[in-house]
Amino acid sequence: MSRQTQAIIHADAILSNFKLLAELAPTSRSMAVVKADAYGHGAVNVSRILQHVSPRFAVAIIEEAIALREAGITAPIVVLEGAHQAKECAMAASHGCILVMHNQAQLEWMLACPEDRRPTIWLKADSGMHRLGFVLNTLPSIVKQYASLITQDTVLVTHLACADDTSNDFTQKQLSAFLQIATQLALPVSIANSPATIEWPQSRGDWNRLGIAVYGGQPNTANVALAPTMTLRSSIIALRDVPKGESVGYGQNWVAQKDSRIATVGIGYADGYPRHCPNGTPVAVNGERAGLAGRVSMDMITIDVTHISNVNIGDRVELWGENVPINEVAEAADSIDYELLTRVSARVPRIVK
Ligand code: PLP
Repeated sequence: MSRQTQAIIHADAILSNFKLLAELAPTSRSMAVVKADAYGHGAVNVSRILQHVSPRFAVAIIEEAIALREAGITAPIVVLEGAHQAKECAMAASHGCILVMHNQAQLEWMLACPEDRRPTIWLKADSGMHRLGFVLNTLPSIVKQYASLITQDTVLVTHLACADDTSNDFTQKQLSAFLQIATQLALPVSIANSPATIEWPQSRGDWNRLGIAVYGGQPNTANVALAPTMTLRSSIIALRDVPKGESVGYGQNWVAQKDSRIATVGIGYADGYPRHCPNGTPVAVNGERAGLAGRVSMDMITIDVTHISNVNIGDRVELWGENVPINEVAEAADSIDYELLTRVSARVPRIVK
C-alpha cells in the first residue's frame, strides 16, 4: 500500500472563493496571488484553475513567474518584489512580467535596460508598513525623475500592515496618506490584500491582490462564505492499546489517564504538519474528531481514538480541511493558516479534485 498522505486541492472551492471575492469589489479588478507555490496548493494548479477569471497573477520573485510561463500560463504576472538584480528587468520583459519596483537602484537598472527590452513597472509606496517601498513624500520627485519609465500601465502599490484588525485605526491612517499622494500623481492604485478587500471597502482600488482568501482564509471578524481549499489527509498505519499510566512518543509527552487506544498516523513534521501542535490538537478519523496524543514526530503522529468505535488500520485521518478548520490547527500550533499551508512539504502529493 503506498502512503496515503496527500493534500487534496479543491478546484471548485478555489474558483468559487475567487469569484465571491471579486464580486465583493465589483469596481476593482482582482488578481490571484500565487506566490509560495500558491500558498502550498501548487502555483500551476491554481493558475490553471483561475486562468479564465484572474486577468493577472502575482508572485513574489521572477523564478516563480518563469515556472508559470513554462507551464503555459499566459496572463501577465506581477512580481511583487520587483527585480533582485539588473538582469531581471530584461528577463521580466521577455516573460511578460510586471515588476513592482520599490527602490531607486531598481529604477536605475531599468534605465540601463535597452528601451525595447523594458518591462512594465508598478511603483511601490511605503505608507507605513516600513518593509518595502518609496517613502510617500518622495514619490512625486521619483515619478518626475523616472518619468521615462512610467507608462499608462503603471500602478501605484502599497501594502497594509493591519488590515485583518478592524479595530486598529492604523489602516485608516495608511489609506489616507497613500490616497492623498495617489490622487496627486493621478496613477491607478493597488492597495488591498484579502483582509483589506473584505473589511476595508476604501482600500479596494484598481487592482486587489487576493491571496489567503482565495485559499479559504479570512479575518476572524469577517463572515464571508469561503470554502476550504486544501484537505490534508493521511491514514492510520498502526493501532495499539496503551494501559493507564503508560506514555506515548518522544519525551513521554502524553500519559494515558485511562486504558486507551492509540492510532499512529503516517504524517509528521517532515510533511509540514506543525511540530508545535500540542496534545489534543484536533484531527478527524472517519469524520469523527480525535486529538493528538504525544509529540509530533518527523514522519508520524499519534492520536487518541479510545472514544471512537471501529477504528482500523488504513482508516483515513484528516489533519485539516472540511472537518477540521485549518485555523483551529494554526491556533493550537501558535501559528497562522498562511504558514501551515505554505509549509506542506514536497513529499506530500497535491491531488487536484
Ligand atoms: N500583496 C502583497 C505585497 C503581499 O505580500 C501579499 C501576501 O503576503 C499579498 C498581497 C496577499 O495577501 P493575502 O494573502 O493576505 O491576501
